[in-house]
Amino acid sequence: MKNNCSSLSLKQIRDLLKVGQISPLTLVSEMYDEIDKFSNLNNFIALSKDMAFEQAEKSWKRIKDGNARKLEGIPIGVKDLYAVKNLKMTACSKALENFVAPFESQVTENLWNEGAICLGKLNMDEFAMGSSNRTSCFGASINPWSNGDKLVPGGSSGGSASAVASGTCFAALGSDTGGSVRQPASFCGIVGFKPSYGRCSRRGMIAYASSFDQAGIFARSVEDAAIMMDSMMSHDSGDSMSSMEKIPNLENANISVKGKVIGYPANWMDDLDSHVVNNWKKALKILEDLGAIIKPIDLLEFDAYLSTYYLLTSSEAASNLARYTGVCYGNKTDKKINPEYNKTFALFGEEVRRRIFMGVHNLSQENYENGYSLGLKTRKYIKNQFMDLFNDVSMIVYPCSPREAFGVDSVFQNPSDAYHEDVFTVIANLIGSPAISVPIGLGKNNLPLGIHLMTKSFEEEFLISAAKEIEKYAEFKGWLDYDKK
Ligand code: GLN
Repeated sequence: MKNNCSSLSLKQIRDLLKVGQISPLTLVSEMYDEIDKFSNLNNFIALSKDMAFEQAEKSWKRIKDGNARKLEGIPIGVKDLYAVKNLKMTACSKALENFVAPFESQVTENLWNEGAICLGKLNMDEFAMGSSNRTSCFGASINPWSNGDKLVPGGSSGGSASAVASGTCFAALGSDTGGSVRQPASFCGIVGFKPSYGRCSRRGMIAYASSFDQAGIFARSVEDAAIMMDSMMSHDSGDSMSSMEKIPNLENANISVKGKVIGYPANWMDDLDSHVVNNWKKALKILEDLGAIIKPIDLLEFDAYLSTYYLLTSSEAASNLARYTGVCYGNKTDKKINPEYNKTFALFGEEVRRRIFMGVHNLSQENYENGYSLGLKTRKYIKNQFMDLFNDVSMIVYPCSPREAFGVDSVFQNPSDAYHEDVFTVIANLIGSPAISVPIGLGKNNLPLGIHLMTKSFEEEFLISAAKEIEKYAEFKGWLDYDKK
């Protein structure tokens, strides 16, 4: 069994655990060996061995007593912006370097209550701002697909994607404000799933942009992602935006695509690399062969969505991060202003400070009308546009990212160039829709590309059903399948 467990699917390991064929204690120590073996990927930034072995002990007892819960004994990783009681929670920021979570987040509590085991905390872009994991105060996490040159795993949940792709955990929690689960999944050749806004509680997740933030999951298959999500979703009176919609069963989701009208923004095709377009067409063909009706739709130029996203999220971030600093925009070294504020603010990295500055600018009295207020109006326009579209189509399909993973050392000419990484993913967060990235093929550098599926809010069952079909016929081989270990 040794050395094999980590490449099994979550479902397979669940089945072995349930019948006692492997003990959670053995499994946990094997996973820590794997984490050690791949420490060069810098994806786990803190291990929670005491907690993991304690949980494993309890799980083993339950299994032996015939009381196994849904995720009994399954080791997972947690993005370091979820509160796990008594563990450090840093958001990969110097500003929270020594912060220990005093309570449990709702999502992690739901998972522990179903028997999942916490291996540790995963690397991310500081405060979830970024698309490459390079803004982390722990240094960038690395994409296991790196071949010679080190590649980014995407971001902000880069550590989670790298860990799942390299087999150091069976699934990992991420968060998705503008694509932080889906884009890293696309870069690492795994599945990244963000449910509708409100499906998972945000309580105990460090806030970036509250009207966009949503929990998400990384797994090596759609089915594994669905199994995890089934235990993550809940109604929570502690989150004012928690949804009251009936919670679906995604593991068993099985809605045919036959006869469904599926839209794709044909006006985007001309601007994309041919490998990206070919993989996009491959996904559309799979759906068409299964009996779906493929229909071209017109969307705005993608930059329009992106600017609305950055305008609003930076404003919300400035407001959310004020709790750490009091937000002092004077000379950081000018002790006359307020030494405590200055000290904390100086601990934020460059990108976080940039977002705060942008946000404060957009919220300031003189810029409000053409800043935050304009952002709200365009968001409303975008929501209406998609409400109309979803009267005609059941799902919208396009590439998750305009390109493959890039080098850790590559330099963006302008900070805003980095924002273009999210051109395709931000829409789902602007409108609150569920969306998923499924590996579809390889790009021009032989690196993974994901296909992005999005439905109307609360239609996760159809989204997951369609994603399963695409996965089945795409026949994508993950990093572990290549025996690169
Ligand atoms: N890359 C995007 C940003 O920096 C999305 C981040 C996220 O989803 N947390 O805002």
